[in-house]
Amino acid sequence: MSIIEAVIEKVKRIDPDQREFHQAVTEVLETLEPTATRHPDFVKAGIYERIVEPERAVLFRVPWVDDKGNVHVNRGFRVQFNNAIGPFKGGIRFHPSVNLGIIKFLGFEQIFKNSLTTLAMGGAKGGSDFDPKGKSDGEIMRFCQAFMRELFRHVGAEVDVPAGDIGVGAREIGYMYGYYKKIKNEHTGVLTGKGLEYGGSLIRPEATGYGTVYFAAEMLATRGIDFKDKIVAVSGSGNVAQFAIEKVNELGGRVITVCDSNATIVDEKGIDSEKCCYIKELKNAHRGRIKEYADKYNTVCFDGLNVWDVIREQGIKVDIALPSATQNEIDAENAAALVKNGCYCIAEGANMPSTPEAVRIFQENNVLYGPGKAANAGGVATSGLEMCQNSMKLSWTREEVDTRLLMIMKSVHKTCLDAAEAYGKKGDYVTGANIAGFVKVANAMLAYGVV
Ligand code: NDP
Repeated sequence: MSIIEAVIEKVKRIDPDQREFHQAVTEVLETLEPTATRHPDFVKAGIYERIVEPERAVLFRVPWVDDKGNVHVNRGFRVQFNNAIGPFKGGIRFHPSVNLGIIKFLGFEQIFKNSLTTLAMGGAKGGSDFDPKGKSDGEIMRFCQAFMRELFRHVGAEVDVPAGDIGVGAREIGYMYGYYKKIKNEHTGVLTGKGLEYGGSLIRPEATGYGTVYFAAEMLATRGIDFKDKIVAVSGSGNVAQFAIEKVNELGGRVITVCDSNATIVDEKGIDSEKCCYIKELKNAHRGRIKEYADKYNTVCFDGLNVWDVIREQGIKVDIALPSATQNEIDAENAAALVKNGCYCIAEGANMPSTPEAVRIFQENNVLYGPGKAANAGGVATSGLEMCQNSMKLSWTREEVDTRLLMIMKSVHKTCLDAAEAYGKKGDYVTGANIAGFVKVANAMLAYGVV
């Protein structure tokens, strides 16, 4: 048994119920075999054993009071996975599916993603099993305050800098930041994704979606293709999806799908910029359901199915897919259907949206496949730029941040390809992203000795 196989086996044995974490560890470590051969010092220093174990994981009680005066208790998590190359950094997710295994998978992925951005950020993730859907503004505020009432002890501008993720957007960051400021009596860059008036960065809301499209454009360019007139499938209708659609429109592509957890919309005419504005208003201001889009624009709506189910069942032709909802949304059957329907490029806006079997199908069929840790790195990269601006007490213009984001995505793309080639896997973005992200962190860990 190789050292890598032994580490994967141990991870599965000691935490048998953390399915998503096993999946993420297996996916990363399996591609790292060549690093163990080329860097015996990594093996000797136990880097592979250490990198799968978080620096620390905090689990805490979050008691809060609803509008009727009833007391509720949710679980809060912060997993500080690795700070070898910079302060811990990673989003906070509020969703009923959240558990320790999901937060560990996200925190683990974040180590390599953050390393790829070229910025000095370690990996972390946090969240709660709190469900924001259907809650009043007051309830959201009280929950966020209760969450920060414990989290503040573990974070700090030079220690750990959380951001948003599923269920945590500008409103939630505002409530959490306001509460942190109140109890710590300091105005520092402890969170990113802040409002512009209090230390946020222009382009941060757009960054993950824009960055995913920039990454896809780089992949397409390797085959002399661009977005012009291409048919694009996007899943989700939240932060990442909205700005991915906006950027695809700008580049001349036609997005024909969106979804939420209840339904999928297919709009063959294309979700143009006016319709995209409607989705932003519907989701961010009214907090409505995506099926309302079908009523407004008289399009087809498929209840209870995700985008990839619909594409398979309806045999819809797609050139490019940007999964931007959640983990494991594309399974093997849907991956095979996507390929059959002509899809030749997948850039993951979401984290781990394709199952391992789906990824295999994309790779076997020579699809340009950009894994989330590379393709969606623009979000955390721009969070890193927000941290820089906070440190300097300056604000850059929209153009300046967007230019830096584009440069970073080009650099992430090149880094993946260079690493893949250097380790004998030319064109394999998965191997390239994992190895490039890992080697930098491993070298830093090596320098510190055994700590
Ligand atoms: P949002 O909460 O803004 O949006 C999530 C969207 O996905 C919603 O439309 C939601 O629908 C939908 N969704 C969630 N679960 C499912 C499901 N099981 N089936 C179908 N649709 C679903 O989150 P974000 O856009 O921020 O995040 C989306 C993905 O991108 C996540 O994987 C996240 O980790 C990743 N990501 C986000 C970054 C960011 O900067 N925000 C950075 C990097 C990655 P509903 O409204 O019904 O819940």
